[in-house]
Amino acid sequence: MVEKPKLITNEGVRIDGRKPDELRPVRMEVGVLKNANGSALVEYGKTKVIAAVYGPREALPKAVQLPDRAVLRVRYHMAPFSTEEHKSPAPSRREIELSKVIREALESVIFVDQFPRASIDVFIEVLQADGGTRTAGLTAASLALADAGIPMRDLVAGVAVGKVDGVLVLDINELEDEYGEADMPFGYAAGVDEIVLLQLNGVLTPDEFKKAIELAKKGAEKIYAQMKETLHMKYLSTLES
Ligand code: ADP
Repeated sequence: MVEKPKLITNEGVRIDGRKPDELRPVRMEVGVLKNANGSALVEYGKTKVIAAVYGPREALPKAVQLPDRAVLRVRYHMAPFSTEEHKSPAPSRREIELSKVIREALESVIFVDQFPRASIDVFIEVLQADGGTRTAGLTAASLALADAGIPMRDLVAGVAVGKVDGVLVLDINELEDEYGEADMPFGYAAGVDEIVLLQLNGVLTPDEFKKAIELAKKGAEKIYAQMKETLHMKYLSTLES
């Protein structure tokens, strides 16, 4: 078995040089695919995810149509080349679970009742994985939905908080996820102050849990501000062209 690396130095610095409450460099871009109605590319450090949105369009096969609202379908998928060891391209149980939690998070903000019998399809493709792919995927999906002009109550920003060597840290990378004591993926609609995704792998005390939520909110608010800015810049560039 590989020995657990030291994840926090005596000076309180993380394995990649960050402070506990620091995000990785976050990069985002919308409108990156010409054949999708909306799309976004999001990077949290080395984690790189693309999202594409199709719809609203007539839901097919007809049997899946709902008379009073749109069906939202979400597929989270890790590309075989996204991980160090080649991952099987077939959908895993993990990918099915993540597709479901991301769909539920997005469904809570989309005005699905405006599009009866339609479908909105969201494809999330992980291009490079270094921890936090579901949260980066959620951010990318939310941006792609906005880019597609889908009406929503709010944008959703995702970020994970972890506990490593007894310290709560923001936006964990793969090593911190693998060797840490806890991992808490979090999705936040900051404008309406609603938590739309919350999972916890590992154990936190009630006090740590409260602090983890505060830390996650702080991180998600920063990402949320960057999402708004990215959409604003795209809008301005379309006005100019
Ligand atoms: P998340 O990516 O949302 O943090 P997990 O906690 O399940 O989800 O995974 C943590 C990290 O472990 C991923 O970001 C990825 O870097 C790595 N990982 C997950 N699944 C696989 C896999 N099938 N093969 C190799 N690495 C994986």
